Amino acid sequence: MALIYITRRIPVAGISLLEKAGHTIDISLEDRPLTKTELLAALKQKPYDAVISLLTDSVDADIFDAVPTAKIFANYAVGFNNIDLAAAHARNVIITNTPGALTDAVAEHTVGLILSLMLRITEGDRFTRKGLYTGWAPELLLGESLQGKTLGLIGAGRIGARVAQIAHLGLGMQVIYTDMNSIPGLETEVGARFMKTPEEVLKEADVVSLHVPLLPSTQHLINAERLRMMKKSAYLINTSRGPVIDEKALVAALQEGVIRGAGLDVFEAEPALAPGLANLENVVITPHIASSTVAARDEMAEIAARNVIAVLEGKEPETAVKTA
Ligand code: NAD
Repeated sequence: MALIYITRRIPVAGISLLEKAGHTIDISLEDRPLTKTELLAALKQKPYDAVISLLTDSVDADIFDAVPTAKIFANYAVGFNNIDLAAAHARNVIITNTPGALTDAVAEHTVGLILSLMLRITEGDRFTRKGLYTGWAPELLLGESLQGKTLGLIGAGRIGARVAQIAHLGLGMQVIYTDMNSIPGLETEVGARFMKTPEEVLKEADVVSLHVPLLPSTQHLINAERLRMMKKSAYLINTSRGPVIDEKALVAALQEGVIRGAGLDVFEAEPALAPGLANLENVVITPHIASSTVAARDEMAEIAARNVIAVLEGKEPETAVKTA
């Protein structure tokens, strides 16, 4: 029987797997991310064998050293930019994530943002609720059809590829993409065209959607200069990680008409928004809920739990993150 700490309540689907395996679980009682001081204190309470962390926890060397007994930090997310992988490697701590579980949810949310933005659905909702709707009119809130438009993906891994399928097969969009290498399956399945650089995608796409991990190489990948490369009529969608966009530069670009609109689920300094962003009509904003379907969140909890159970039994976890 092992001791497990979970930094915030996750769906019961995962917790019951850990209980069935006979482990003792402590869960933070706070319904918010713990501060670093609180997290350090919590981890020092007992000699925990495993920790389930969230993307809102900054897991660095101090955190690992607070709980030297922990063999694994199972991150309840596919992204792991919140974890210092080198520090984990130096201490032989296994890191895992939850890839795949949320691919459909995030891809569907991405397409939802595109639809909301281009068909002006959330804008129309605000307009109507404000009592501004005085009757049908031929040119009221004219939107744009997605059919035949070009979707440009920056990053075409699991989520990007699923967005490409839905957008092409379901909505008749043409797909172009950039990634580290071309992805032959994507080219045969949806006729996607590979571009060697993000610049080529930015120049040609009507909708640019970001699906890269947050890495030093992708931080501010979209900056003022690259925004100016986009068509004036284009839209930018981000369901990856906030810092992939220079959010201040994006607000300026949206205010000045450099691009037409943006759909954002993630923000550079979450939960804060860049000044001015919330006042823009040509933006659809959701509070980092792209993976928030019951099915995805349950499966994420189950994967995290199975990874913990495997490591505690001396087995390989299903979804280890390479730390070196
Ligand atoms: P993935 O690893 O399958 O795909 C990422 C792709 O980006 C890979 O194909 C990789 O080669 C490519 N890439 C990396 N660096 C690049 C660069 N500099 N230029 C071009 N391509 C590059 O990951 P995924 O499952 O598709 O998830 C993608 C990201 O989405 C995650 O890392 C995570 O940060 C984010 N995410 C957000 C939410 C949310 O709730 N909004 C949920 C899940 C995942």
